[in-house]
Amino acid sequence: MRLSRYFLPILRETPKEAEIVSHRLMLRAGMLRQESAGIYAWLPLGKRVLDKVCAIVREEQNRAGAIELLMPTIQGADLWRESGRYDDYGKEMLRIRDRHERDMLFGPTNEEMVTEIFRAYVRSYRDLPLNLYHIQWKFRDEVRPRFGVMRSREFLMKDAYSFDLDADSARHAYNRMFVAYLRTFERMGLRAIPMVADTGPIGGKLSHEFIILASTGESEVFCHQDFLTKPIPDEDVDFEDRAGLQSLVDDWTSSYAATSEMHDEAAFGAIPAEQQLSARGIEVGHIFYFGTKYSAPMRANVTGPDGQDAPVHMGSYGIGPSRLVAAIIEAGHDDNGIVWPDAVAPFSVGLANLKAGDSAVDTACEDLYAKLNAAGKDVLYDDTDERPGSKFATMDLIGLPWQLVVGPKGLASGTVELKRRATGERETLSAESALARLT
Ligand code: ATP
Ligand code: MG
Ligand code: MG
Ligand code: MG
Repeated sequence: MRLSRYFLPILRETPKEAEIVSHRLMLRAGMLRQESAGIYAWLPLGKRVLDKVCAIVREEQNRAGAIELLMPTIQGADLWRESGRYDDYGKEMLRIRDRHERDMLFGPTNEEMVTEIFRAYVRSYRDLPLNLYHIQWKFRDEVRPRFGVMRSREFLMKDAYSFDLDADSARHAYNRMFVAYLRTFERMGLRAIPMVADTGPIGGKLSHEFIILASTGESEVFCHQDFLTKPIPDEDVDFEDRAGLQSLVDDWTSSYAATSEMHDEAAFGAIPAEQQLSARGIEVGHIFYFGTKYSAPMRANVTGPDGQDAPVHMGSYGIGPSRLVAAIIEAGHDDNGIVWPDAVAPFSVGLANLKAGDSAVDTACEDLYAKLNAAGKDVLYDDTDERPGSKFATMDLIGLPWQLVVGPKGLASGTVELKRRATGERETLSAESALARLT
């Protein structure tokens, strides 16, 4: 992408309305624009990051055996009357009436709808296990939308729903998602700690929130500091191996970790004081096992091997990709701007032409740009005639992992400069060596 033809509305001033660093940086870096309270347009740079986050989420869901579909944002109220949640959900639900006076709503979550889809097609235990997920916009009329996309009213959610014959198989489904979540957040450069959590309006007993520690987090959390260094299950973990997954999850839940709603002072106190961690955190994911809470009232039954019909056992599993973009910035930034982990960076390389219009510099840049593109790299080529200082400031602000700087002085001696955003390390080398390093 050539910056001269891109849409990157950088703000030089710090927006006053933004209270936390991720919100400030997302506005300044031209990722986001507020359209109404808690409702945002994702500008091109932000959209690229959101897509990368979703791609990781999707890969790990698929790896764990979940199957993607896409349900609508607008739902009929009748489904929610069947489960009994239409009245219970309260003011967070945005209720809509269509031209025929039918009650509709903008989905805050999809347990009812997915249960309706399931019961329309699935009758037998032979079709189980099943886990269906989608990545779709949700709306919750939050009392206090704030911190940009961290707590917005319209937000993106990956929500998966598992269906199993009995509680044991449902536990396996839960464990699959538990492990998939550990991997998902790790791949984004985040350390998310699974904590015993309250189930809220989703219901059920077994539940973990995945929490990233951050001083700006809205949750108060308590855990053993072991969680900060525990190794994450690797890519070839066998999701079919029930016993293996259970022992992985047992291991990850053997130390104390809980949110304030579920906090047990005595259990926490049993941890040696120097290993206690009491901090603030951001909820980036939440998994639930709630059994037959929806399938029983909605009559989503399956016939078991014994010929008996029984309501299917369900769980649901949420991740907030839009909140994650902000959480990744909370975890990775410095005074100059965002520091993206490679896996979610909007572009992997920023190529800065320090003297646009100078034919030697232009030629060298065009050559590097073409070769990097050919190697499949996402490159933002700053071909504008801004001053070098302003180009560096922009590159730092938008946080691209690598900056490749080409200027007339260096070129005269056959070199370019390569800078690693995360460490600030700079290296002077030939264009060929720089290419070799980046591809
Ligand atoms: P919170 O406690 O922050 O209000 P929640 O517990 O209500 O979140 P869940 O119903 O568990 O949220 O939804 C699953 C995920 O969706 C959350 O873990 C979070 O990542 C994301 N999410 C929920 N509400 C919002 C919001 N208002 N803005 C952005 N992301 C959200
Ligand atoms: Mg909430
Ligand atoms: Mg919560
Ligand atoms: Mg939650």
